Amino acid sequence: MSAPNPASSTNTEEAKKNSTDLSASLQELRQLSNQVYLTGGRGLAGDQDTSKDHTWLQDLQAQFGSVNSTIKDIEDATAQFQAQTNVLMIGNVDTDPQIESFQLYSDLAKNHRWFEKVNEYAVGASAFLGQNLLKRSYCNFKSRRKPLSTCHIAQPDHLTKMISGINKMFNDMKVTVSRPGGSMLNAVVEVHLDRILKTVIIFKGLMIEWVVVKGWKEDLLKPDGQVDIWGESRYQVFQRITENANAAMIHFLSPAYPELAVRSFMTYLHSFNSLFSDKCKQCNCHLQNNLPPTWREFRTLEPYHEDCRV
Ligand SMILES: [Zn+2]
Repeated sequence: MSAPNPASSTNTEEAKKNSTDLSASLQELRQLSNQVYLTGGRGLAGDQDTSKDHTWLQDLQAQFGSVNSTIKDIEDATAQFQAQTNVLMIGNVDTDPQIESFQLYSDLAKNHRWFEKVNEYAVGASAFLGQNLLKRSYCNFKSRRKPLSTCHIAQPDHLTKMISGINKMFNDMKVTVSRPGGSMLNAVVEVHLDRILKTVIIFKGLMIEWVVVKGWKEDLLKPDGQVDIWGESRYQVFQRITENANAAMIHFLSPAYPELAVRSFMTYLHSFNSLFSDKCKQCNCHLQNNLPPTWREFRTLEPYHEDCRV
């Protein structure tokens, strides 16, 4: 706590004195006014003795004079009064004669002390956090906050550009994009991975919504020329990979970083280029139940059989 300031202490004393003087003058004015009303109200009718009339008038004039001089005193005291401290004003609350307000002063004083403490701690915390060069999130969370994701309503050019980038990532994987019916929102992406598999990926903006994996010799189109997005492969191995690829799609989904999600998914898909030569990391065999390792661990992309995965 800071040391008391002598100047401010003197000012406080002076303000207190002014306040006391003012209160005393106001009480005096009340009493004098009452006397004026009483004397005026009594009037001449109450006095049988006419010789006293003189006295009554003089009394009334003298009382008016006193009232006038008290009003002048109050005006002077008001001019000198410095209402610079709210504590004094609050201190006058306990002079309120209402019973309900008796507790008010102690409550106000308690709250005042509480707010002073809060202010003191806030100043201390602010100084401490201001020195923190790491700029943690609670210091500048506004600037770190990412804008709301709009990846599901991205412009078509954005996806086309992203797909051409992915085409350069792997030599043995060819990715093409088409927009049935000229849709601005949805796109069909076909992935041809060497002589291993074909995939249809449905995009909404930059987000993957659906994946179907088939053998490299299987047809991705229906007899009417439409892309067959609901038909599954006739081979069990690609049915399993379709299930696992949809799980991977959900795993990599990231509305905040849609491009990273798509790149991660494409890298995952490319890991099946050695599908028929991989050995399971767990049992070290090529086949289990006549199937190759169709599961890829999402982080390392290591191959596992369905029943061998950890
Ligand atoms: Zn295995």
